[in-house]
Amino acid sequence: MNIIFLGPPGAGKGTQAKMLIEKYAVPQISTGDMFRAALKDKAPLGMKAKEYMDKGQLVPDEIVIGLVEERLKQDDCKKGYILDGFPRTVAQAEALDKALAKMGSKIDHVVSIEVDNKELVKRLTGRRTCRKCGAMYHAIFKPPVNKDVCDKCGGELYQRDDDTESTVMSRLEVYDAQTKPLIDYYQKKGILKSIPGIGSIDDIFNKIVSILGS
Ligand code: AMP
Repeated sequence: MNIIFLGPPGAGKGTQAKMLIEKYAVPQISTGDMFRAALKDKAPLGMKAKEYMDKGQLVPDEIVIGLVEERLKQDDCKKGYILDGFPRTVAQAEALDKALAKMGSKIDHVVSIEVDNKELVKRLTGRRTCRKCGAMYHAIFKPPVNKDVCDKCGGELYQRDDDTESTVMSRLEVYDAQTKPLIDYYQKKGILKSIPGIGSIDDIFNKIVSILGS
C-alpha cells in the first residue's frame, strides 16, 4: 500500500506515520527527516537544505524529487510506504506520478490531515524532539517528566530550528500557497481522504486505519 500524508506542518503527519509503519510494516519516507539526517552528518545535501529550512522555505523541487526517486527504488519500498512531507508542490506530485508510472506503480491513498492555523502555531512552537531516539514531546500537550529530558532514553530534548514562531509563520504561508493546491490535485484523481486532525492521537490513528483498512 503506497500512501501519501498531506497536511500543514504540525498537523501530526509524522506522529501518525510513525504509528502506521508499525501496523503496516512499511517504511516512512519523510523528506524533512532525510534533510535533517544529512545535516547531522554534515553532508552537502544537508547544508544546502538548511539554507531553505531555516527560512521556512521549500528546498528546490529538483533536489527533493531526485532524492525521493532514489529512495523509492530501494527494496524496502516494494511492499509499500508512507510518504510524509512529500510531495509539497504540484511539480513534485507530477514528477512522482511519472516516476511511479515508469516503475509500474501508483499511489493508493492520500490522507489529508486538517488543522487550523491558530492551533498549528501553538503545536509547532511547543514541539520538542529527543536528540538520541527521535521521540516527540510537547511543552504543553505532552511534557516529559523531567524538563528537556527524554522519558524513554534519557536523551536531550531540543526544539527544531524551524519551529520558532517566525519560521513557523513562513512555513504555514508556504503551505497555503504551494502545498494546499495538492488537495485539489488528488481530489480530482479520486484518491483523497480528508480527516480532521483534532482530538486524541489514538482517535486520529483509528480514523486513518478505518480509511486505509486493516
Ligand atoms: P518537515 O519536517 O516535513 O516539516 O520539513 C522541514 C523542512 O524541510 C521544510 O520546511 C522544507 O524546508 C524542507 N522540506 C521537507 N520536505 C520537502 C519537500 N517535499 N519539498 C521541499 N522542501 C521540503
